[in-house]
Amino acid sequence: MKEITSAEFEQEVLAGGKVVLDFYSTECPPCEAVAPKFEGLAALYGNDITFVKMFRQQNKPLAEKLGVRSSPTLLFFDNGVQSPVVLTGGIKRSDIIHQLDCMLPAERIREIKKEIVPTVSEFDVLVLGAGPGGLTAGLYLCQSKVNTVLIDIALPGGQVSTTHEVSNYPGFIDPQPGYMLSHNMSEQTKQCGTIYKVAVDVTKIDLDKKEVVIDEFETVRAKKIIIATGTSPNLMGIAGEREMKGKGISYCATCDAKYYGDKDVVVIGGGNSAVEEADFISRFASKITMVHQFDALTANRQAQDKLFANPKIKVLFSHEPRSFVRDGDKIITEVEDLKTKTVTKLVSDGVFVFIGMKPNIDMFRDKLALDNWGYIKTDEDMRTSMPGIFAVGDVISKKYRQITTAVADGTIAAIAIAKELS
Ligand SMILES: Cc1cc2nc3c(=O)[nH]c(=O)nc-3n(C[C@H](O)[C@H](O)[C@H](O)COP(=O)(O)OP(=O)(O)OC[C@H]3O[C@@H](n4cnc5c(N)ncnc54)[C@H](O)[C@@H]3O)c2cc1C
Repeated sequence: MKEITSAEFEQEVLAGGKVVLDFYSTECPPCEAVAPKFEGLAALYGNDITFVKMFRQQNKPLAEKLGVRSSPTLLFFDNGVQSPVVLTGGIKRSDIIHQLDCMLPAERIREIKKEIVPTVSEFDVLVLGAGPGGLTAGLYLCQSKVNTVLIDIALPGGQVSTTHEVSNYPGFIDPQPGYMLSHNMSEQTKQCGTIYKVAVDVTKIDLDKKEVVIDEFETVRAKKIIIATGTSPNLMGIAGEREMKGKGISYCATCDAKYYGDKDVVVIGGGNSAVEEADFISRFASKITMVHQFDALTANRQAQDKLFANPKIKVLFSHEPRSFVRDGDKIITEVEDLKTKTVTKLVSDGVFVFIGMKPNIDMFRDKLALDNWGYIKTDEDMRTSMPGIFAVGDVISKKYRQITTAVADGTIAAIAIAKELS
C-alpha cells in the first residue's frame, strides 16, 4: 500500500489498472477504524488491485474535485474511470470486499478467498456494544489493567451519537451535542488502551465458548463477556413501512430532520422521545402533525409544555396509523380515529416514528434468562443467568434507561469482573 499526493494522482490512479483510494484525515476515529481493514485487504487483493492512501487535509483541492466531503472516503477506479460507488463514514470490511469483488472476475475472487487465513485472538474481557454502557465498562476494565476488547457493528458511541442534545448528563453546565459526548467517552476509553474492533460484521456469537466471530474469519475469545448491545427503535409493522424505511420514513431526527427544511412532516408517538424529537424537527420543518394513540401525551410535563407552545406542531390524539403509501414525492399516512373509526389521509414530505425500543438480543436470545419484554435479567453485579456473561445498559431488564444508568451498569460490571479476575 502506498501513500500518494495530488501530484501523483494522475500517474498512480488514472494511468490504468484497478485502484482503490482512501482519503483519510488525522484525529478521525472512523479513519482509524477503517485503516486496519484497508491494510488487511491490501495484503489479500494487492496483486490485482492497487491500494493507495491520500491525506485529505493536504490534498484538499483534489478531494473536493472528486466529491470527497468527509473522512474516510474510499473511491474505486478501473482503468482511470471512477466508480459511482463511494464508501464513507463507518465503513465495514464487508462493504469494501463487496466493492473489490465487483472489480474482479468470479474465478479470481474464489482464488483470493482461499488465501484467507482465519485468525483467533484472546482477551480477558470482550465487551459487545460500544455505547455508554460498553464504553464505561471498557474504561474501568482498562484502568484495572484487564485486557479488554470492544466490538461494535457501528462506530463507537451508541444511541448518544444520534441524540441532538443531551442536557441531563452530569458534569456539563450547558447541553452537550450527543455526538460530542459520545466522542469524548469513546476517546477516553481508547486512550486508556482498550482495543477497538468497530464497524464490523458480527458473524456469530457463541456465549458457551465465550467467543465472537467478526467479519467471517476473525474469532475473538475472552474469559468473560459483557453484553452492551442496547436497543433499536420499534417499527410500526404496517403496510408500506419497510419499503419506505430510510426513504422518507425515519427513526432518527438528528440524522434526518435537516432534510425537511420548510417541509410538512408527520411524527408518530407521544412519549418523551417523540415529543422532544418533534420539537427538534420543528427547527427545520414548517409544519408537524403528531399522531398519538392515546388522548393524552405520555411525555413529561416540561416537554409537553414546550410542545404545546410550539405553533408549528399540532397533535392528533386517539389516532393510529394504518398504512403508508408513496404518492410521488409525498407520503400518505392513513390514520384511523380510534373513537369514530374514520380513516383520514395525512399528506407529508416525511414521517418520523418514535414508538419505543426493543432490546438487541437476536443473536443470543435463547441463551439467557429474559423478562417478559425480552430484556436480559441480571443480578446487582450485572451477571446474567449464564456464568461469565454480564449485561449492562439499555439491553437489561430495568425501569429507567438513560445514559447515566447505562454508565452506572458498565461501572458495576467492570468492577465485579476486575475483582473476579484478580
Ligand atoms: C432519540 C433518543 C434520545 C435520547 N436522549 C437521551 C438524553 O437526553 N439523556 C439520556 O440520559 N438518555 C437519552 N437517551 C437514552 C440513551 O441514549 C440510552 O439510555 C443509552 O445510549 C444506552 O446506552 P447503551 O450503551 O446501553 O446502549 P446504546 O447506546 O444503544 O449502544 C449499544 C451499542 O451496541 C451496538 N450493537 C448493537 N447490536 C450489536 C451486536 N450484535 N454486536 C455488537 N454491537 C452491537 C450498537 O451499534 C451500539 O453502538 C435517548 C435515546 C434516544 C433513542
